[in-house]
Amino acid sequence: MQFFSTRGEAPAVSAAEAISRGLAPDGGLYVPETFPQWQMDWAETANLSYQALAEKIFALYLSDYSADEIKEIVKNAYGSNFAAAEIAPLVGLSNEKYLLELWHGPTAAFKDMALQALPHLMQKAVAKTNHGEEVIILTATSGDTGKAALEGFKNVDGIKIIVFYPQTGVSEVQKLQMLTTEGNNTYVVGVDGNFDHCQKGVKEIFSDGAMNDALKKANKKFSSANSINWGRLMPQIVYYFWSYCQLLKQGALKAGEPMGVVVPTGNFGNILAAYYGMRMGLPVGKFVCASNENKVLTDVINSGTYDKRREFYKTTSPSMDILVSSNFERFLYEMCGRDAGQIRDWFQALATEGVFTVDDATKANWQKILVGGFATQGEINTVIADTWIKEHYVLDPHTAVGVKVCGDYQKASGETMPMVIASTASPFKFAEVVYGAISGEGETDSIACLAKLSAETGWEIPAGLRGLTEKAVRHNTNIDNTEMAETVKNIVL
Ligand SMILES: *Cc1c(COP(=O)(O)O)cnc(C)c1O
Repeated sequence: MQFFSTRGEAPAVSAAEAISRGLAPDGGLYVPETFPQWQMDWAETANLSYQALAEKIFALYLSDYSADEIKEIVKNAYGSNFAAAEIAPLVGLSNEKYLLELWHGPTAAFKDMALQALPHLMQKAVAKTNHGEEVIILTATSGDTGKAALEGFKNVDGIKIIVFYPQTGVSEVQKLQMLTTEGNNTYVVGVDGNFDHCQKGVKEIFSDGAMNDALKKANKKFSSANSINWGRLMPQIVYYFWSYCQLLKQGALKAGEPMGVVVPTGNFGNILAAYYGMRMGLPVGKFVCASNENKVLTDVINSGTYDKRREFYKTTSPSMDILVSSNFERFLYEMCGRDAGQIRDWFQALATEGVFTVDDATKANWQKILVGGFATQGEINTVIADTWIKEHYVLDPHTAVGVKVCGDYQKASGETMPMVIASTASPFKFAEVVYGAISGEGETDSIACLAKLSAETGWEIPAGLRGLTEKAVRHNTNIDNTEMAETVKNIVL
């Protein structure tokens, strides 16, 4: 299996090379040359454990990893690090809505599903492709990736990790989780700016020729833990297959019948993994892309115009406060018939003018399978409160966006297939918002809200969020968003 760049001006590479590089040298994203087809029948698939399913899906893409290596990676990632035996439980609500709980990992958000595997994928990739270089992982985070990446990579030999987060753009719990990270190879840097500034800064450092030369001389190289890395996307395909198997087991559908997939979306990685699943043979009847008030994706899905020239809103679902949604490039690549020249033109226009418009045929291609919708701050609070009252289920604000947009879609379409909604974070990660919505009280101390939310709902605080305030703050670097390159230099050179 080879991997191509969406921009078409970099050579095809092996899976190990794609994972160890992260971004292609022409600025594009790596995509698999073809989508391998799932051959096993569904009754048999439904009997696989999560780990066995992951091994089979990984093997379809990692043709340069041995079966033993894949087994070891899966064991390290999903052997004992998740609080739920099923890894990703599927919980039914009323009205054909199912929540795929992706937050039972160590940092209580769905990023763990991939970031528990990526360091092990990367370590093997580096051994296959490198010449003893130290790998420097640069990561921009809107809150959840940062901690999940730090936990995954801490104390992994031969790798350093630097995380940039928007100083005032993450929740108090998210910030404390990151700043208390241990490990001898972890660096956490607060940036005066939003997530898009962090992501742009990281992309610029990746393509900074002088910096890369200096690194090379020092026998080091950059890679990425963001969802631009193939090693992030591939593990996410697994849980969509898994959710389909759970629907079969729960009798919600028969083999071959379609499910709908709803994803609260930011960088478009999670929903893209579901789309890749469909290309491999997973029966998905519709994809619903759910946004918060930063609804650049809702707009492009409806109009064909991607326009980032708009106001940026800080919302209570900060992990989706994103205007430049990186993985949409991979989706567009498929929708336009893998025309790399076209992708270059569009993303050149996005970089220079802040906007591009696709042709009608490309738009028509996605409108057959994908709808977009969004939820306002008020709607998010209402959905959290209603779901607690009617279903006794506690939603986090991101998942609430998904539930709201799912309901809108069901109403508008009259569709009755089961809808799997990606539940992307534990409600305790955003305890002040959730507790406020449920209790009606304006408590703002998010740490105090952990205990209050637990007392109010009877839900247990996830292990990774307990005792946060007793941990020592180990990282306190704060910089201007123009100082990111300098900061990296100081750390690694
Ligand atoms: C990262 C994140 C998202 C967005 O996922 P993408 O793959 O970037 O679209 C949604 N919710 C939560 C809680 C997240 O951490």
